[in-house]
Amino acid sequence: MRVLGRCHNEGLRLPKSSGRTPETVWLFDLDNTLHNASHGIFAAIDSRMALAVAEMLDVDAQIADTLRLKYWQRYGATMIGLHRHHNVSPHAFLHRSHDFDIAPLLSVETGLNQQLKRLPGRKIVLTNAPSDYASRVIRLAGMHRNFDGVWAIDHMRLQGHYRPKPSLGLMRQVLAALQVPARQVVLVEDTLRNLKAAKQLGMRTVHIFNAGTPYSAIHRGRNLYVDLRVDSIQELAQQVGQLSLVDN
Ligand SMILES: [Mg+2]
Repeated sequence: MRVLGRCHNEGLRLPKSSGRTPETVWLFDLDNTLHNASHGIFAAIDSRMALAVAEMLDVDAQIADTLRLKYWQRYGATMIGLHRHHNVSPHAFLHRSHDFDIAPLLSVETGLNQQLKRLPGRKIVLTNAPSDYASRVIRLAGMHRNFDGVWAIDHMRLQGHYRPKPSLGLMRQVLAALQVPARQVVLVEDTLRNLKAAKQLGMRTVHIFNAGTPYSAIHRGRNLYVDLRVDSIQELAQQVGQLSLVDN
């Protein structure tokens, strides 16, 4: 498994389409999509992030919380606000907030890798989490053989600015690197706003419902920009025919 899109100068090392047969490319979100981060991992990140913001900005816990929420709402990631307004090193912040033992907290569905194998096409993880953390989760869950690579927050830079999901600019960049038409790309996600952006560009969209995801519960009904709604990867493998994929 490779870490992709590391640096624009190096060129994006995404596996290219063979060009002969149309092939589906699956973009999988990581947290609350491929594993249940709400089981304990999010709490671990949250407490470390709170401490990191307070210490790196030298503010009390209450101010740190206010700033975290503000930047998360405005930029989609606390790290971007800290970098832009306080010159905090994104790498240092992400490292501090994700530096813990993942294994005891990891929760994945039974038979996950067998279910992923049933989905035809190439698979890439597209996550707003840092690449080091994503790679550790993927390896611990034994998913590395199922994925061609990881595109993480560290690589989501456009013209010097971080552009995480749901940035349309990021998604256009991913499509350009994949060199496949948007209709051959499926985004699988628990976060609805990311699916909405993918649909705007013509991708197929699969909503994995996770009760722990913010705002997921109020949208239990089918949204127009969601092609398929499932509760697990197993259910996705069972219902993949509904997506009418090119290689199915
Ligand atoms: Mg997620």
